[in-house]
Amino acid sequence: MIKINNLTKIYKSKKTGDVVALNDISFTLPDTGMVFVIGKSGSGKSTLLNLIGGLDSITSGEINADGIDIKSLDDKGFDKYRSSYLTFVFQDYKLFEGLTVKENVQVGLDITNSYNEKLVLDAIEKVGLKGYEKRYPHQLSGGEQQRVAIARSLVKDSKLILADEPTGNLDARTTKQILDLLKEVSKDRLVVIVSHNLGDADLYADRIIELHEGKINSDKEKDHSYNNQYKVIDNKAYLPHYFDMNEDETNDLLENIKTNKVKEVVQIDNGFKDVNNKEYQERTIELKPKKSINRSLLKLFKMFLKKKLSSRILTIVFSVLIFVVLSIIQSFVLFTPNPTDAVFEDKYVVMHKGKTEPLGTSMRSAELYNVVDSDIETFLETGYNDDYYLLSNYGAGANYSLYNISYGLHNSNEWFYFTQSTGTLKCDYDYLVDLFGVDGELKVLAGNLNDKSYGLIITDYLADALIYHDRYVSYENILGKGRYAYVNAIIDTNYEKEFEDIKNLYDTRYSYTNVDEFIQLTYEHPDYERYTQLIFRYYSVCYTFNKNFEEELLEENYLESYYTSAVYSHGDKMLDEDSLSSDDKVIYTASSGIHNVDLDRGQMEMNLELYNELFGTAYTNTNYSLEVNNKVTLTLTKQINGEDIIVYQKEFEIVSLGYTIVHDDDFKELVAHQIDDYGVYFKNNEYAKDLISVGNDLGYYYKSVDFDAGLMISKMISAFEPLFIGILVTIYVVLFSYIIASGVNVVKGNKEEIGIYKALGGKFINIGKVLLLDILVTGILIISISLIATPIVLDLANDILVKSFETVLTVKIFHLDVIRTFVDVLSINFSTLFAAIILSAIVPALWLFTLKPIQIIKE
Ligand code: ADP
Ligand code: MG
Repeated sequence: MIKINNLTKIYKSKKTGDVVALNDISFTLPDTGMVFVIGKSGSGKSTLLNLIGGLDSITSGEINADGIDIKSLDDKGFDKYRSSYLTFVFQDYKLFEGLTVKENVQVGLDITNSYNEKLVLDAIEKVGLKGYEKRYPHQLSGGEQQRVAIARSLVKDSKLILADEPTGNLDARTTKQILDLLKEVSKDRLVVIVSHNLGDADLYADRIIELHEGKINSDKEKDHSYNNQYKVIDNKAYLPHYFDMNEDETNDLLENIKTNKVKEVVQIDNGFKDVNNKEYQERTIELKPKKSINRSLLKLFKMFLKKKLSSRILTIVFSVLIFVVLSIIQSFVLFTPNPTDAVFEDKYVVMHKGKTEPLGTSMRSAELYNVVDSDIETFLETGYNDDYYLLSNYGAGANYSLYNISYGLHNSNEWFYFTQSTGTLKCDYDYLVDLFGVDGELKVLAGNLNDKSYGLIITDYLADALIYHDRYVSYENILGKGRYAYVNAIIDTNYEKEFEDIKNLYDTRYSYTNVDEFIQLTYEHPDYERYTQLIFRYYSVCYTFNKNFEEELLEENYLESYYTSAVYSHGDKMLDEDSLSSDDKVIYTASSGIHNVDLDRGQMEMNLELYNELFGTAYTNTNYSLEVNNKVTLTLTKQINGEDIIVYQKEFEIVSLGYTIVHDDDFKELVAHQIDDYGVYFKNNEYAKDLISVGNDLGYYYKSVDFDAGLMISKMISAFEPLFIGILVTIYVVLFSYIIASGVNVVKGNKEEIGIYKALGGKFINIGKVLLLDILVTGILIISISLIATPIVLDLANDILVKSFETVLTVKIFHLDVIRTFVDVLSINFSTLFAAIILSAIVPALWLFTLKPIQIIKE
C-alpha cells in the first residue's frame, strides 16, 4: 500500500517564479493492479510519478510505500528504494544503447542483488523477446525496446512499476501489446501508468486518478460487478462501452429494434465509480541491502569506453603531441652548454684536480690524455664486444696512471712500465684465456683468481709496473688490499717475450746523456707503436669476472676503511687532508696540494695555492721564489682502534711549485660525473673564462667546438626566453584545460546512461568508479605513450637541430644536447598531468553528485 498525504511539490525557479506542480493531494494505492494517472499536459502527472519513484524531492507532505517513508530516506536509502522496490518504464525506454538486450536486463538485476542468468532469460521470454538477447536497442522496434524495459523491471521482481507515458511513442497495435503485458504483470504488483489516452485508461485501468492543475480532479475505480456485455432489459438495449459487439449481438439488436422490443438504446458507462476513503491492508517491506556488483560496473565501463572512441583517440594523440612540444620548449628554457657532455668526444680542457703540473710544462701531457682517450675508443672498437666494457675509477693504479704515463714518457726516459690508465675491464675467464692463455688456461703467477668476489686480476706487466712506480717489493706484496682495490691474482702474459726487443732498448736508457736522443730512438723503433697500443689495451688493464665489483667494493667499505687522515704541518699551520692512503710505504696525495713526493730524497712538489696558504705568500705562476720557505713536515696518521697514531713524520724540501686548475666544488661535480681522472667541469661561464685564461697561461686548454656552439645556441635561446616561457604557460593552460574538458565530456557524453543507472537505483559512487576508471584509462594511455615518445622524439629533434646548427655555423658538432629529456622536469609534468586527469574525473563527478536523478535524466 502506498499512502500519499498532503503531497505538495513546488518547483522553485527564479525565471518563471515558483510553480506549484502538485497541490496538497492525498490518496492511497493498493498493492496490486493497474492505476492510470490522467490529466492535461502540465497537470502534474510526471511530477507525481517522479516523487513516488524517489527521483525528485518532496516539498511537503509525505509518501509512505509499504512502511517506507520516502521523505526520511537519505541518498543511500533512495538508491536502495529505487533499486529494490520499484522500476521506471519511460516513454523513451531509456535503455543502455551500448548494451545488448540481455545486458540491459542484467544491469537491472545487478543493481539490485546478484547475477542470475535464469531470471534474466525468463524475464526476456516473458515479454516475448526470446531469441533477441544479443541484439542492441537500435536493432529493435519501439515496442520491443519498451518490452526490454519491462523485462528489466520484471527481473527485479519490483513491487511497483512506474510508467510515464510508456506507449506515447508507439502505434496502436504495439500499444495494445505493451498494455496487455503491463496488465498481466499488474496481477501481482502495482503498475502506475501516466497516460493521455482516456480510452486506454477505460480499457485497462483498475483505477483512474485524474489530475488538474496539481489537484486531484477525480479518483475512480472500476466496479467489480461491472459488466460490459450487450444486454436488453425492460425495452432498453445496453450496448458495450466501446460498441465492441459481435455479429450475433448486432443481429439481435437489429431484430429487437424491428420488432419494437427495444425502445431505447443506451451505452454502458465505463464502469468506474468514485473512490471514497478506501482502506487497504497494510504491509511492510524491508529494503534489501545492496551489494555493488562489479559485473555490471564492468559492463558500464565497456559501454563508456565504446562511446566516442574516435574523439578519445584524438584526445590521446593531441595530449601526447602537446606533451612532447612542452618537453621540447622546456628543454630550450633549461638549456645551458655543458662541457662535460663534450669531454669524451670533443676533449674540452683536459686537466687534473689536485694534480699540479710543474710550472712551465708544455701542453704535451694534455695531448697525451687525448691519445689515451681516443685509444679507449679504438680499444672498445677493436678488442671488445658489448659484453666487455670499461669502467674506470677503481682499479690498482686507476688514479695514479695518466700523469705518470705522460710524465714518464716525455719528461724522462722511464717509459717502459705504463700503469693501466682506464680502470678495470669486466670480462669472463674465456676472454682472458683468449688474450693470455696457454693451452686453454691462465697461468697464475701469484694469488688465487677467485679469492674475493670484488677482487681484481692483474697482469704480470701491471704488477711489474706497480712495483716499478709504487715501490712495492714483490707480487705477494701487491696481492690483497691495495690502495684502490683488492688484488686477487697476478697472471702471466708473457709480455717480456713479446716485447723483448723494446725492453732491451729500454734497459739501455741510462747510457744516454741526451734524453731526447733516446726518446727519438724509441719512437722510431718498429715495435714501439704496437707496444704502446697493446700495453694500453691488454697488459696494463685490471680485470674482473664480477660485473658488480664496484658496488661490492663500496659495500665492503673497502675504500673508506682504507683511507685515513694525514696532517700537513708547517710551524703552527696545519692542514687536514682526508684522502691519503695509509700504506706507509707510499705517500699518495690524490687531491691535496702536494704532489710528487719523493720519500727517499725527502723532496716534494707543492701546489701554488697550498704554498700561499701555508706561508702567507701571494705567489703567482709567473712570480715566485722558493728560496725563503721551502721546508714542510708531512705527518701521516693512521686510525688504529679508533685512535689517530702518527705512523710517519718527515721534513720535506719543496723543490717546485705547481698550479691547481680545477676548483674544489667543480671537482665534486667531476667526481659525480665519473670523470675524476681527466676532464674538467665548469660551474658557470665566468668560471670557465677564468679557467681558460689560466689554462692559456699554462698552455693547457683545448678549444671546444661543441662548447662554443652550445654558448652561441644558449645566447640565441636566451633572447627568445620570454617567448618560450609564454608558450610554456600557454601550453600548460591549454593542455590542462583540454584534459579537464575531455574529462567533463566523458561525464556529459554519458549523462543519459548515468541518469538511467541512477533511476534504476545504481549508486553514485559506482558511477564515480566507472568514470574514474574511464578517465584513468585515457590518462594512463596519455602518460605511457608520452613517456615512450618523449625521449625518442626529443632525441630526434635534437639531432635535427644540431644538424641545422652545423650547417648554419659550418662546424662539426660532436655531441650537443640542446633538446633533451630532463627526468625531474618530466616527472613534474607527469605529476601535474596526472593531477589534472584525476581532477577531470572528480570535478564532473562532484557536479553529478549535486544533481537529483531527475535532473540528469531531463537535461
Ligand atoms: P505533466 O507530466 O502532467 O505534463 P509535469 O508534472 O511535468 O506535468 O509538470 C507539472 C508542472 O510543473 C508544469 O507546469 C511544469 O511546467 C512544471 N514543472 C515540471 N518540472 C519542472 C521543473 N523542473 N522546474 C520548473 N517547473 C517544472
Ligand atoms: Mg509528463
